[in-house]
Amino acid sequence: MVLAVTEAPSPEDYRGVWVYLEHDGEELLNVSLEIMGKARELSDTLRTELTGVLLGSGIGHLARISMEFGANKVLVVDSPILDHYSTYAHTKAMAELVRARKPEILLIGATHDGRDLAGRLAVRLKTGLTADVMRLEIDESGLLVAGVPGFGGGILAMVKCEASRPQMSTVRPGVFAPLEPDRSRMGTVETVEVDVSEQDVKREILERVVEERVDITRAEHLVVGGLGTGGDLTLIRNLAQLMGGEVGVTRPLADEGYVSRDHQIGTTGYSVRPKVLIVAGASGAMTFTSGIDDSEVIVAINTDREAPIFDHADYCVVDDLFKVLPPLIKEVRGSRE
Ligand SMILES: Cc1cc2nc3c(=O)[nH]c(=O)nc-3n(C[C@H](O)[C@H](O)[C@H](O)COP(=O)(O)OP(=O)(O)OC[C@H]3O[C@@H](n4cnc5c(N)ncnc54)[C@H](O)[C@@H]3O)c2cc1C
Repeated sequence: MVLAVTEAPSPEDYRGVWVYLEHDGEELLNVSLEIMGKARELSDTLRTELTGVLLGSGIGHLARISMEFGANKVLVVDSPILDHYSTYAHTKAMAELVRARKPEILLIGATHDGRDLAGRLAVRLKTGLTADVMRLEIDESGLLVAGVPGFGGGILAMVKCEASRPQMSTVRPGVFAPLEPDRSRMGTVETVEVDVSEQDVKREILERVVEERVDITRAEHLVVGGLGTGGDLTLIRNLAQLMGGEVGVTRPLADEGYVSRDHQIGTTGYSVRPKVLIVAGASGAMTFTSGIDDSEVIVAINTDREAPIFDHADYCVVDDLFKVLPPLIKEVRGSRE
């Protein structure tokens, strides 16, 4: 009997940076565009190709947009089986693609589906995964170094995956900036067949409920309430609406259910980068401020002049938010009339 011995691929056999492009069927999610911006920089440093991977049904139109945002190449797997995200089918398709094409880096958005896919995929590919990263760079030997927040955001651990490939990370929404779209960016689109079937979709959709979702990472103006509001977000909402912005909160308010988790800022919420952020009644815990430090202008309102939030603010108002916000709302309303 002759046994065929196939050697396991070595890290040198892997080449290129891949971004899993999450979408809602119509548009690419913002986090995918943000990752593409960073991935473009990584692939330029490595002098390699940036490939976007699109899985779905009837999603060919997203390939052109992916190139405008920096992809040299887009792999499109178009199948009705992949119409909605399904753990087993998407994992199987991605594992097959990665095994066949061998990218050295694979980046995925740290969304609900992205986190679900990345963990399972990493196990299937027997490789390492850094989760929820906030920094990505290439070291002198060409390895990906990922900054993973630890101890509630108190530290950023820089982690490498030396032996196995691809080097995988999920990336937090709102951390990186997308490139300016450029219609002159050219690339290639390849349609790929993968071996997925109905049997790989191990769930049945009983009813589809489309939730009104808020994307605070895109807001140019944010008004943020903390526990100092006592959960009464009326003034915060009024001001946000007048400014054409969104409402953000600290974690305790999301935990208590005053608003959905979509509004939560911080290490376990979203990182935001608005032009103006007004934060009222938040103490400024590091796990919160890590999510606001990229804002252009921060105005903080707090009764406690020693509150750490003031170390992060450009304008500090030491007073009761219930006294400060009503005249501010009146002023903004007046300027709009
Ligand atoms: C693992 C881990 C992850 C976490 N992740 C996050 C996260 O992602 N995001 C997050 O926000 N938190 C997070 N936290 C919680 C965080 O540590 C803080 O507990 C939280 O941010 C505090 O929220 P706060 O500032 O609203 O409340 P508090 O710390 O209670 O502050 C309330 C502030 O309001 C002021 N105030 C009271 N009344 C008024 C008034 N009338 N007018 C003006 N000011 C007033 C007070 O002086 C005080 O400074 C995390 C914690 C852990 C352990």
